[in-house]
Amino acid sequence: MRSVQMELMTSREFLTVGFTTAIVPLGAVASHGDHMPMGTDGFSAHALAVRIAERLERTMVLPANFLGMSGHYHHQPICISLSADTQTRVIRDVVESLHHWGIERVLLLNAHDGIIPSTEIAARDAKIAHPEMSIATIDWWVITNRRLPADTWEVWGGWGHGGEVETSLGLVLFPDLMQMEHAQGQVPKVDPYAKELWLFEELTAHGASGAP
Ligand SMILES: [Zn+2]
Repeated sequence: MRSVQMELMTSREFLTVGFTTAIVPLGAVASHGDHMPMGTDGFSAHALAVRIAERLERTMVLPANFLGMSGHYHHQPICISLSADTQTRVIRDVVESLHHWGIERVLLLNAHDGIIPSTEIAARDAKIAHPEMSIATIDWWVITNRRLPADTWEVWGGWGHGGEVETSLGLVLFPDLMQMEHAQGQVPKVDPYAKELWLFEELTAHGASGAP
């Protein structure tokens, strides 16, 4: 097999491998401060998905979905957002297409906070419609923070949009697109227990939060 990336395959290659599993990289286009590209989430999700698929059998990676629900990031230039309804439909339609082609194991690999609710709704609906499918969701930053030692990060547990964890991932996955001389963030005050629905401009004056 030449590549695990669907958009690089021919139909013949697809049929020859007999894929059973697909990873769907979910991202967004929104400011990540002045040190990371606006497509950070799509790039991150896709690069992680490819690395995972290359270690598995008969697993392919869909093209990165760069359009996500990002309305709460619209104060910094620029942000192209889907509504939560549209986002849910997009994910649901993708899973339906995979089911049509006999791919019953699907991992929705999410890189953007605005997509979390839509991912869960779409995945639940798909599972109810197709009980034989195995569908899972991952928010990559949750895994990094659980799997790495607690003292890996210096500030705010590494959290943030374009913060310490995400900036580190960018430096590993797409160093040529990083401009660390422009890195600026701010650690916001957020309630540790209640989930307050913020607009990003309420958390930081920059396009990034945390400590890039
Ligand atoms: Zn991001």
